[in-house]
Amino acid sequence: MKLISGQVPWENTLLHPPVYPVLKEDITCDCLIVGGGMGGAMMSYRMSLSGADTVLIDKRAVGSGSSHGNTGLLQVSNDKPLTSCMNTFGQENGVLFYKLCQQSVKAILELPGKLDIDPLIMPRSSLLYASVPEDVPALKLENENLIRHGFDSEFWDEETIRSHYSFSKPAALFSRGDAETNPLRTVHSLIDKAHSRGVRVYEHTQAVKYEYKADGVVCHTENGRIFAKNVVFAMGYETQEMKKDRGAVLINTYAIMTEPVQNFPKWHERSLIWETARPYLYFRATMEGRLIAGGKDEELTTSERRDIRVLSQSQRLLEELVALFPELEGIEAEYSWGAVFGSTRDGLPYIGPHPEYPHCYFIEGYGGNGTVYSMIAAELLSDTLAGKVRPELELFSLTRTAKPAPSPAIQG
Ligand SMILES: Cc1cc2nc3c(=O)[nH]c(=O)nc-3n(C[C@H](O)[C@H](O)[C@H](O)COP(=O)(O)OP(=O)(O)OC[C@H]3O[C@@H](n4cnc5c(N)ncnc54)[C@H](O)[C@@H]3O)c2cc1C
Repeated sequence: MKLISGQVPWENTLLHPPVYPVLKEDITCDCLIVGGGMGGAMMSYRMSLSGADTVLIDKRAVGSGSSHGNTGLLQVSNDKPLTSCMNTFGQENGVLFYKLCQQSVKAILELPGKLDIDPLIMPRSSLLYASVPEDVPALKLENENLIRHGFDSEFWDEETIRSHYSFSKPAALFSRGDAETNPLRTVHSLIDKAHSRGVRVYEHTQAVKYEYKADGVVCHTENGRIFAKNVVFAMGYETQEMKKDRGAVLINTYAIMTEPVQNFPKWHERSLIWETARPYLYFRATMEGRLIAGGKDEELTTSERRDIRVLSQSQRLLEELVALFPELEGIEAEYSWGAVFGSTRDGLPYIGPHPEYPHCYFIEGYGGNGTVYSMIAAELLSDTLAGKVRPELELFSLTRTAKPAPSPAIQG
């Protein structure tokens, strides 16, 4: 699957990434991780903490899948609001999901001091604005639910927004506790650390066939076999080529990164910014003072069609950015890209075992918060492989009954 079109900025921020060999022999391991994106990186790092005998393979270079298209927003709040999660999954499960996201963002924020390559992760506040006045009551309710269950949130009226930003919106939720990251550096820093702790890593090594045995799985690659007691599939949206999930939806999405901004606009705390509309637009600033805008989602097309759409969609994103911050008039996009993006119909990622794949576990962190879901998955699955029972996995079961997402998504 061609995952990305256009030009992505991240490789210019890591000019000499670590490189790993191609697998050319038969090997054995306790845990094989297939995929070296954010999911595989978090998993390999977490496995390396306990010294588990682990191998990671990727058919491309590490970090070259969808994680390369990631715009680096890390948030406690999800595409599916807490109110909506509580209505769909029940109060206890809805809150549990948000608590897991909160713990994951905290755990991600603690990573930098533990890694040798700086992943460029830093705390950020977030502004979620009401796209239209009709969304304000639901935003108020969301604020109440967030506060009642111990999450950071402030309800801001139009005037408060105007005093902190260049734009005016009917209302917004302002919160602290979120973060930004450089996704390519994060993937590399985690795998690099895992590798230095003994995880064996092979790039340009594609899993082409699996044999499921009573005591494990034999994974065939072009030039060698891997005899693994357990396999964790972290193959991103390409998992859908191996096993279709009825509740998974793939679309195209687009993003831009501007040149560095000389006169920074009125943008409170350089917060992450997003909105209540679905599909939503989102905006953030990088540490180097560049601006990112993303969204303009559309249905999945051929990659050739997406290649062509990058130019016009990036122009529209630039216009949306300037509509919010008129001071930026004349700013240009230095990088523009489009990519496959996956979500699930009920708003939760898929994490865990599948009855048709013995000794196997899946990380399918589908949704706009994929990095946070990857961290949740790594925590839950590494504990599971170490013999601990993690009942939270029920929430993310691959065989759960998919329910339709409510519309509009901010409402319960
Ligand atoms: C434009 C865009 C913006 C996004 N913005 C954000 C954001 O701001 N915040 C956020 O949290 N998330 C964001 N996401 C989502 C995020 O990028 C994904 O959730 C995340 O990168 C998925 O990581 P992954 O490891 O599951 O998949 P991938 O990064 O795709 O990694 C999977 C890896 O598996 C390898 N692989 C596949 N099949 C095989 C095989 N048979 N053998 C060996 N290797 C194989 C691939 O080569 C690939 O490297 C965004 C996504 C897009 C497209």
